[in-house]
Amino acid sequence: MARVAFIGLGNMGSGMAANLAKAGHDVRAFDLSEAALEKAEKGGCLRAPSAAEAVAEVEAVVTMLPAGTHVRSVYEASVFGKAPTTAILMDCSTIDVSTARDVIAEAQAAGYNMVDAPVSGGIAAAEAGTLTFMVGGTDKAFGCAEPFLEIMGKAVIHAGGPGAGQAAKICNNMLLGASMIATCETFVLAQKLGLDPQTFFDIASQASGQNWSMTSYCPVPGVGPETPADRNYDGGFAAALMLKDLRLAMEAARSVDSYTPMGSHAEELYTRFAEALGGGGKDFSAIIKMIDDSWQSDSSAASPPPGVRLG
Ligand code: NAD
Repeated sequence: MARVAFIGLGNMGSGMAANLAKAGHDVRAFDLSEAALEKAEKGGCLRAPSAAEAVAEVEAVVTMLPAGTHVRSVYEASVFGKAPTTAILMDCSTIDVSTARDVIAEAQAAGYNMVDAPVSGGIAAAEAGTLTFMVGGTDKAFGCAEPFLEIMGKAVIHAGGPGAGQAAKICNNMLLGASMIATCETFVLAQKLGLDPQTFFDIASQASGQNWSMTSYCPVPGVGPETPADRNYDGGFAAALMLKDLRLAMEAARSVDSYTPMGSHAEELYTRFAEALGGGGKDFSAIIKMIDDSWQSDSSAASPPPGVRLG
């Protein structure tokens, strides 16, 4: 069994680190938050006094941090030169493609193997060890990372070279954000045209409108399998995180001059929903409430449309 440093033990990292510990690894945990460290200890990890001390003498380092700036500063200040160069470095955070590539290039220059390995799946999947990892890095780095990632996930896919994991993640979530909005507006229209939502679900599930946002994650309460819509849109994948991923996708699209009209409109709508209307903490499928309540397409972000209720 290996010594593994785990830095960033929030909503996602705590469950992932606990699964590594459960598999018999000696997990040294570090987070800036005392509450996160206490949770990690309950999950079978050993508390480290600092990130630099967590990575000393380990065989692997996993990070699960909020954004690119945290990832860059943790690796530059506390991992490079502090962890043995034989350690495989795995950043599982969702961050911008260019920071992911920069940090991996720095790692390689310092003699490390490193992958970007963002995940699909939320807090429940992190706890259950059923995440999907999209991995960017060399074949050698992927081979070193795979046995650790397999413990935390149900699927580990090599997406390509450095940064390819982040590229796959934001492209997937751009498609998800746009398809969720399309599903929401379709159900609202169907209902206004007098169709029963369950009947429309049964038809569209077997017709060409079929898509994951509808059949596996239906935004209409009581229709399809149980989803956050059946729990007042609590839990699930927060609209604020969908907005974060859409912004990363738009930043990446600008960097390669790619035309993304649907992604760009999805970003605009999630900005209104998550920020102007305060829906950021709700599941991303709750955007149906913004569409349902006589929302006008020319409403300004500063003045929420009347009738929108997020409770
Ligand atoms: P979180 O905010 O709950 O956890 C992040 C943790 O990092 C916090 O505990 C924070 O204290 C810690 N941290 C920040 N800076 C640090 C530093 N310098 N040193 C040590 N610890 C530090 O976030 P989360 O929901 O666990 O998400 C983590 C990443 O996973 C994000 O990039 C997010 O986009 C991505 N993600 C989240 C979900 C989800 O459903 N929550 C799903 C897929 C991907």
